[in-house]
Amino acid sequence: MHNIHSKWKKPSGVNYRCRSAAGKAGAAARWKKNLSTQVLEPEPNPVEADEPEVEPEPAPSASSKKLDLFSSKEDLSNPDADEDEFYLIHKSTIPELLNKMKCHICASPVKFLTTDVQGFAWTLVIQCSACEEIVGKANSSPRLKKTCSSSSRPPFTINRRMVEAFISNGLGHAGVQKLGMEIGMSVMKESPWKRHLREIEEDNVKLKERILGEAREAVRKVHNCPPDGIVENTVSVDGTWHRPGRVSLHGASFLIDFETGLVIDYEVLSKYCHICVMKRAVSDVNSKEFKEWFEQHMRMRECQVNTLHLY
Ligand SMILES: [Zn+2]
Ligand SMILES: [Zn+2]
Repeated sequence: MHNIHSKWKKPSGVNYRCRSAAGKAGAAARWKKNLSTQVLEPEPNPVEADEPEVEPEPAPSASSKKLDLFSSKEDLSNPDADEDEFYLIHKSTIPELLNKMKCHICASPVKFLTTDVQGFAWTLVIQCSACEEIVGKANSSPRLKKTCSSSSRPPFTINRRMVEAFISNGLGHAGVQKLGMEIGMSVMKESPWKRHLREIEEDNVKLKERILGEAREAVRKVHNCPPDGIVENTVSVDGTWHRPGRVSLHGASFLIDFETGLVIDYEVLSKYCHICVMKRAVSDVNSKEFKEWFEQHMRMRECQVNTLHLY
């Protein structure tokens, strides 16, 4: 699950609810009509006019109704969101800032250094240019509050946020490299990138198990079913593919409780099996040998295709 920062705003200049030309013309006509009607209407009573208008309570969203069914009311948003605010600054701004700063020992000018670069994070050092006294030292990013299985120290927050962002936009590690090339910034190497991916996956698996458990418990409660009983409910099945146009090799299907709208199970769908593709490249697919191999491949449950088999 990827968190959205609390300070994120919709980009200006992008009208998500753009009115059509006909809609604009209709609105203009209604405005003119209202204007002429207002002239003919009597002046409103000043006492009534001063009364504050009571705004109706907004209707709860479908998502908030579903979350209300959960027994755990834990906030799923990122608790550290306000601390995860970063600045992207040009190198030339640093000397300007340090212009009037002097060493507290010899009063000489200071210089700015970066050390211990780790992906998008590094250690910032302000050092005296004469006596080399360290005047100030800090990391450019805080670390995550939780430790990870693969490292004794938690990773830097900026690196985790970058990996999450580039997974989310589908650009992956190549996208991070491109960003580094464009703005002259050091980028994360492939091995730490993969380590972040593994840790994000571990977190997501735990979150998935927790949310599914909560959803199933909520459905049992709604249907008055004991924990070890069989729920007699109506379900619907929905699905989606990774890319539109029926060209995607991967997708997912969801089992949804009809009454609550909660997802109670899911299956990742794949039309791709690397073993099949490799075997097919070196075999005659119509041969007896290939058919025997394929039957055994299926019997051993090695095949990763679980929908609409390609052969
Ligand atoms: Zn000094
Ligand atoms: Zn296969």
